[in-house]
Amino acid sequence: MNVHDSEKIAGIFSENGYEESQELRDSNIIVLNTCTIRAKAEQKFSSELGRLKIIKKKNPDLKIAVAGCIAQQKGKSLFKRFPYIDFVFGPNNIDSVHGWINNGSTKGNKRSRRTHTEDNHEYHTKLLPVKREGEVRAWVSIMYGCNNFCAYCVVPYTRGRERSRPGQDIIDEARSLADGGFKEVTLLGQNVNSYGKLSHDNIDFPDLLRKLHEDKKLERIRFVTSHPRDFSDKLIGTMKELPKVCDHMHLPLQSGSDRILKLMNRGYTYNEYKGKIDRLRHALPDVAVTTDIIVGFPGETDEDYQETVSAISEIAFDGIYAFKYSERPDTKALELPDHVDEQVKSMRLQQVLDMQEKITYQKNLKLEGTIVEILVEGPSESDPEKMTGRTGTNKIVHFHGDKNDIAQLIRVRIDEAKLHSLYGEKL
Ligand code: SAH
Ligand code: SF4
Repeated sequence: MNVHDSEKIAGIFSENGYEESQELRDSNIIVLNTCTIRAKAEQKFSSELGRLKIIKKKNPDLKIAVAGCIAQQKGKSLFKRFPYIDFVFGPNNIDSVHGWINNGSTKGNKRSRRTHTEDNHEYHTKLLPVKREGEVRAWVSIMYGCNNFCAYCVVPYTRGRERSRPGQDIIDEARSLADGGFKEVTLLGQNVNSYGKLSHDNIDFPDLLRKLHEDKKLERIRFVTSHPRDFSDKLIGTMKELPKVCDHMHLPLQSGSDRILKLMNRGYTYNEYKGKIDRLRHALPDVAVTTDIIVGFPGETDEDYQETVSAISEIAFDGIYAFKYSERPDTKALELPDHVDEQVKSMRLQQVLDMQEKITYQKNLKLEGTIVEILVEGPSESDPEKMTGRTGTNKIVHFHGDKNDIAQLIRVRIDEAKLHSLYGEKL
């Protein structure tokens, strides 16, 4: 989501005649688009700002803007701590960059500090220019904000209330992307399964998929993130019916313990989650399932943690993103008793990651000798002789090919499986 927000920020600068510089020290403007989902992201921001301070000393005309969730959370107070910042704007105020450029504040050494973190009620209806990274796959926002208030999560406080973009705007954006040569769209929202619930459009997420599927030039449709509570049988049926909707489901479980899920305010039990995965796999036997796991949530006992371990083993995900619980300001989890020792968290995290590596590798090995269809994205980063693409199940495949393969759907025989990617030959 942040990567796509950065594309929107770059889009506004581009539209106003700015070009991307190759070196930080050659820049007139530097925008830091920040994340505050875990404490680590915030630490990165502070150290990055330290570097920019040195650059600004040498070039006093340089303007520094802070965007994203730290900007939203800290607002004006950032100017006090980092007096060399010029502009602060939150994730729902990206359109305010227009005004910053147009009032001349981005040029010369004029000091005029501005902050935009107000509730921008109509943000979800605004059409912003986007400077896209890549030419094959594109992100498309379908909703902003989140109403779920999971006990550990800062997103509802930084990205605000859930709002769905009008269906027609999304369909138009996807069409213009497909006309421009893009083959794949990934629909973005914190909880895509509740798309449309709070709007008057009367179209829900499966209906939106169906409409996007009608576009003749678009080859693939993906989406993140689904919330297990709102993940419906209707969506499973729609995924089965629509071939361009990729066989990949990212469904964050967070914990295998019902007690912890309740404390997290997730709104489902492990059995309910497992039942949904079973129905999904029954309908789409080749579907890849990935998840997010938090270890060391306040009160997580050894027994609770073991339930997460059992869940990972029982479900056998294709991949997981696992995190140590990180205390975030404003969140309910801060007030919970029995915070888990940092060392215990680290141990649990390492165990979970080690365990998943084995599962992922075994799953990849099963693909050796099979033929898969991939969408080619470009040259492989690790080996310039090779090209890289992804399967519908989101597995990375490297193969011998050339530039003419880019943006094509091709068939590849898998010869070798590694932990993070597959190697094969084009058929
Ligand atoms: N809206 C998405 C997730 C957004 S955040 C969803 O609900 O699935 C991405 C992931 O970061 C979450 O799934 C969670 O696993 C992790 N995360 C969020 N807050 C966290 C925190 N305080 N500590 C550790 N991990 C966290
Ligand atoms: Fe955070 Fe929960 Fe919303 Fe995801 S659904 S963004 S984890 S509050």
